[in-house]
Amino acid sequence: LRSKRLSVKAYTDGILNSDRLILSRAITLVESNLPSDIELAQALLENIIPHAGKAIRIGITGVPGVGKSTFIESFGEFLTQQNKNLAVLTIDPSSQLSKGSILGDKTRMETLARNPKAFIRPSASGTALGGVSGKTREAMLLCEAAGFDVIFIETVGVGQSETLVHGMVDFFLLLMLAGAGDELQGIKKGIMEMADAVVINKADGDNIKAAKRARIEYQNALHLFPASESGWIPEVKTCSALQNTGLSEIWEMMEKYVRHTQTNGYFDINRKAQNLNWMKENISALLEQEFYTNDAVKNSLPEITKAVKTGSLPALNAARQLIQKFKGK
Ligand code: GDP
Repeated sequence: LRSKRLSVKAYTDGILNSDRLILSRAITLVESNLPSDIELAQALLENIIPHAGKAIRIGITGVPGVGKSTFIESFGEFLTQQNKNLAVLTIDPSSQLSKGSILGDKTRMETLARNPKAFIRPSASGTALGGVSGKTREAMLLCEAAGFDVIFIETVGVGQSETLVHGMVDFFLLLMLAGAGDELQGIKKGIMEMADAVVINKADGDNIKAAKRARIEYQNALHLFPASESGWIPEVKTCSALQNTGLSEIWEMMEKYVRHTQTNGYFDINRKAQNLNWMKENISALLEQEFYTNDAVKNSLPEITKAVKTGSLPALNAARQLIQKFKGK
């Protein structure tokens, strides 16, 4: 049952007062594709934008089983003990493809979910509009306006969702394991290149030696990548999410990154560039939606599709014809 919608003012005030319940409902609102919700969500976003932007945005990725939820739970607990308010947004690209979900099936982050300084929210992913990331960026802005100091955006390290997450965070962390080759871990080189840090998890028990070795190997590998625009040299750390070791070093590294990029101006430049990209992505998504819901396009699409399938019409000509119809010509 849909709860009754609030007024823009009630949503805005609730968020600015850090009301978790209202924040949750506001995220549901911005995720909605109902025309009346879209209007309300736009007004709300305009209201909260001046209050957003103050958090450190951290992307966390890694293949299933690497320990993402365990890491987020222990690192999240660590941060809340440092008196930080933490919001965790998770993107699960699998849920749009099948009913099954890589992230959602098990009960995850139970301790953190009960922590009053933490807020955990799985993002509805992959409706037509907004691609894999859905409305995660908007959800992040709402969380920032609600006063969270740190935002984690978690994604499974298997597909295009990393690029999207990388495009909305300040710091991108890749979790890895020792003793498994990159190939085995399914991590593409492109994802390694995006990482500001590689953290080798499960550095405990018999695994400590291998983790230390892997750390050196990854550090050497990362040095071979072209220098990043941020002027930051990616670091490699080890940790045990299970035994809570290495966490303070990881946080110190993140703080060092923020100082470094704020001093050289990259922090701000990057956010502005991300914002512009987001506008462009939205233009593409909105145009596509308008296109496919356009009556003239809908009328001609089946016939033109058939012609392309049978090879009687070149794909480029077909696309041009449809665009002409869309433009009402
Ligand atoms: P996710 O799929 O990436 O979210 O991984 P999970 O957090 O669910 O962890 C997968 C498995 O690895 C679980 O059985 C965890 O208990 C275990 N695990 C996670 N972190 C560590 C760690 O630091 N050390 C050890 N030994 N096991 C870990």
